[in-house]
Amino acid sequence: MNYDIDKIRSWFPVLKNDVYNKPLIYLDSAASAQKPVQVLMKEEELHNQYYGNIHRGAHFMADKATNEYEGVREKIRAFVNAATIREIIFTKGTTESINLVASSFCERYVGAGDEIIVSEMEHHANIVPWQLAAERKGAKIVKLPFNDSGILEIELLVDLINENTKLIAVAHVSNVLGTINPVKEIIDIAHKSNVPVLVDGAQAAPHVKIDVQDIDADFYVFSAHKMYGPNGVGVLFGKEKWLNEMPPYQGGGEMISEVSFEGTTFNELPYKFEAGTPHITGVIAFGAAIDLMNEIGLDNMAAWEHSLLEYATEKLKEIDGLRIYGEAPRKSGVISFNIEGVHSYDLAMLLDKMGIALRTGHLCADTVMAHYNIPGCVRISFGMYNTKAEIDAFIVALNRVRMMF
Ligand code: PLP
Repeated sequence: MNYDIDKIRSWFPVLKNDVYNKPLIYLDSAASAQKPVQVLMKEEELHNQYYGNIHRGAHFMADKATNEYEGVREKIRAFVNAATIREIIFTKGTTESINLVASSFCERYVGAGDEIIVSEMEHHANIVPWQLAAERKGAKIVKLPFNDSGILEIELLVDLINENTKLIAVAHVSNVLGTINPVKEIIDIAHKSNVPVLVDGAQAAPHVKIDVQDIDADFYVFSAHKMYGPNGVGVLFGKEKWLNEMPPYQGGGEMISEVSFEGTTFNELPYKFEAGTPHITGVIAFGAAIDLMNEIGLDNMAAWEHSLLEYATEKLKEIDGLRIYGEAPRKSGVISFNIEGVHSYDLAMLLDKMGIALRTGHLCADTVMAHYNIPGCVRISFGMYNTKAEIDAFIVALNRVRMMF
């Protein structure tokens, strides 16, 4: 494989840093990925050369910023293979994208006695918005469980779906288990009963090729900051049919067509769902991250990260008393684990002092923790810039910490 890891690492200045006088080993990209110079430079370019508010200016800078911003919308459309840019809404992240759908979709289509199926392996961001909406509407959340290997029991779906089911919410990739769910199959089952599906792609978009038309997703959501782009920017893909029928999420400038005290008419898609001044800088710089991922090739990145996943899994399994949560055959670059007799916070704190950045706690996935009956765990996750040498150093550090207990 032609994967120039030295060149890739050179694009991420932060990786050259020491922390606590130790070389930084960043194994927390699933929480947020580091930013390459291409993204940082794009932010600077905008502010040094043509910053202005978009869609409303009558001057060169506003026009240029608008063109750049809308250019990124087209890049995202191509990235997920949506049919039209009208289906690409910018938000401030996966969380806001899901809240938008939970609020607007449920307002329009969900009533008392209705049901929303949510998988047991979801991030809190794909559970709580549905609970809030269900509470408002007198609807009910129904759980789609996973087994101990971290595989969704999709054979149960046929029985879970009934005439009251209004939507299914499921992650493309679990942020704890790393499982890559068969979303195309899930959507196919759901559509046989005319039930739409929202796919949480927060952990998939940086690693898995997305084709919303091929999987036939009704909604697909993700965050720029996990894709080497800025924080505070996210995407909602929604089928035009739904977005046209759903009421606006927020009111304000840009989302309207005409306003009077007698009433308001709304702007066309996608602007109907983009009230107010958006994160102009973030969206424009996100475009540079998309360019970079396209240049390297998502397949190349995925293959590289998969080799890291296999290597690290093998090494971790050699450690006595270590349990990995999530052993599905199709996994993304995420490994969550505990070591018997060691509290996950102690482990993370000591590893941090050795320069290793990872995630610990409930990982915003209490239902996954409850499944395994654990309060929390440790998670390492890989980005395009990680190496086997870093995994070796991590394993040495982990063994040192284990010996302390
Ligand atoms: N969904 C999944 C699967 C995630 O991993 C995350 C973040 O870790 C989110 C949703 C929430 O993303 P954000 O905080 O960017 O809105």
